[in-house]
Amino acid sequence: MLRRSETLELIARFGRHAVTDAIRAVLAEIRSRAGATPAATDADEFAIAQRVAARLIEDARPSLRAVFNLTGTVLHTNLGRAALPPEAIDAVARAASGACNLEYDLERGIRGDRDHHLEAQLCRLTGAEAATVVNNNAAAVLLVLNTLAMRREVPVSRGELIEIGGSFRLPDIMARAGCRLREVGTTNRTHRRDFEDAIGPKTALVMKVHCSNYAIEGFTAAVAEAELVRLCRERAVPLVVDLGSGALVDLRLLGLPHEPTPMESLKDGADIVTFSGDKLLGGPQAGIIVGREALVARIKRNPLKRALRVDKMTIAALSAVLGLYFDPDRLAQRLPALRVLVKKTEEIRASAVRVCPLVAASLQGIASVQVIDCESQIGSGALPAQRIPSAALSIRPLAGGRGSGTALKRLALAFRNLPVPVIGRAEAGALVMDLRCLEEDDETAFAAQLGELERSARREK
Ligand SMILES: *Cc1c(COP(=O)(O)O)cnc(C)c1O
Repeated sequence: MLRRSETLELIARFGRHAVTDAIRAVLAEIRSRAGATPAATDADEFAIAQRVAARLIEDARPSLRAVFNLTGTVLHTNLGRAALPPEAIDAVARAASGACNLEYDLERGIRGDRDHHLEAQLCRLTGAEAATVVNNNAAAVLLVLNTLAMRREVPVSRGELIEIGGSFRLPDIMARAGCRLREVGTTNRTHRRDFEDAIGPKTALVMKVHCSNYAIEGFTAAVAEAELVRLCRERAVPLVVDLGSGALVDLRLLGLPHEPTPMESLKDGADIVTFSGDKLLGGPQAGIIVGREALVARIKRNPLKRALRVDKMTIAALSAVLGLYFDPDRLAQRLPALRVLVKKTEEIRASAVRVCPLVAASLQGIASVQVIDCESQIGSGALPAQRIPSAALSIRPLAGGRGSGTALKRLALAFRNLPVPVIGRAEAGALVMDLRCLEEDDETAFAAQLGELERSARREK
C-alpha cells in the first residue's frame, strides 16, 4: 500500500506516520467487518487508498471551525460572539508570531506592566481614572468582589440576581469570591429605603447588575444609579456596576435602542464598572474593569489577577479595536459587530433575494425556499426585549405532513454538514436563515458550497 502512487501523495501531505496508521486502521476495519482478508488486486488497493484518504482528511479537519451564523442572534455566545476587524486580526498575528514588549518598558529598559497597553485607551474612552483587563467579564466580577468584599456583605437588589448562560450565576460567583450576598427588596420592586436598611458596618460595597438577558415589566421599581451613588457616598461604601454588554458608544446615534454605557455609569458616580470585551464592544473575549484609581490599584494587586490575566493576543486585538473608537464617524463601518447591527433591512432583503434562487436550485424537489421578513436580536444579553427588523430565507421541506419534523432536522443537518457549516433556526416547520450576518463579501463563498448541499440533502433523505 505504501508504494502506491495515491499513497505517496498522501504521505507528502500528511506524513508517513499518519498514513501508515490510517492504512492499518482501514485494513483492520475491513478484516473485522467481512471476516475476510482484503484481496491484493489493484482495484481493491485503490478502494482502500480512497478510504485512507477520506479518513486522513476527516482526521485533519480542525474541531474549531468557521461557520455561517444565520441564527439571527448577532452576538451569539455559542458561535463565538463578535467578529474582529482586520486591524485586530493583523495585530494578533504580529503579537503571536514573535517576541513583543508585553511586559517590557522600552523607554527604561526594565520590566513593564501588561495593562499599560490598554489602560490609557480605556481611560480616554470611558473617562475613568484607571483600568485593568482580565479574561472575561465573569472573571472581572469575581476579581472585583474578591478584592473589595472578601468576608463582607454585598447588598444586591433581588431583581438583579442574574443567571447568564454558561452557568454564570451571581449568587454563586459571590460565594466563590468569598463575600456574602445580602438580598435587597423584591423581584419586581426595590426602593432606596431597602438599601438604606441593608447597608451597615459589614457592608463592603453595593452592587448593581444590569438586567442583561431579561426584562422585568409591569408593577416595577428600581433605584436609579445616580440615587444609589448618593446613598453609597453618604454611607462611604463604593458602588460597583456590572454592565455586562457595556456598549462604548451611544447606540441611539446609530439608530439602535439604547444600551447603558460605562461612560454613563462613571458619570453617575459609580466607583467601579465591569463589562465584556466581546459583546457590544466588538472585540476579543475579555473582562474590562474601569473606575477609581485607588480601587483599581487594589484589584491589580490581588494574586487572583495573575490567574485571570489576558494574553498578548487579547491585548493586541483589544487595543486595535479600541483604536477604532477614536474615529467614531467610521466606527460602525469598520467594526464588524456594529456594521452587522446597523445594516439596513433593504440591504439584507437584497442579499436574501440574490441568494434565494441559488439555495432553491440546490434543494429542488427537497425543500421550497422563500424570502421572508424576520427580526434579529443583538444577543449576549444586550437589549433582550428589543428586536431589529431583518430579512431571511424560509426553507420548508417538501415532505410536509407526517414526518416533516424529521425532514426539517435532516435539512438542518445537511446545512451543518457543509464545508463551512450553516446554522439557522427552526421556526414553525421551516428552517429560517436570517441573512443579517451574511456579509456581502461572504455571499460567493456561501453560494459556492451549495452544490454540496444537494448531495448531502439527498444522502440524508
Ligand atoms: C455577559 C454578562 C456577564 C458575563 O460576561 P462574560 O464576558 O461572558 O464572562 C456578566 N454580567 C452580565 C450582566 C452580563 O451580561
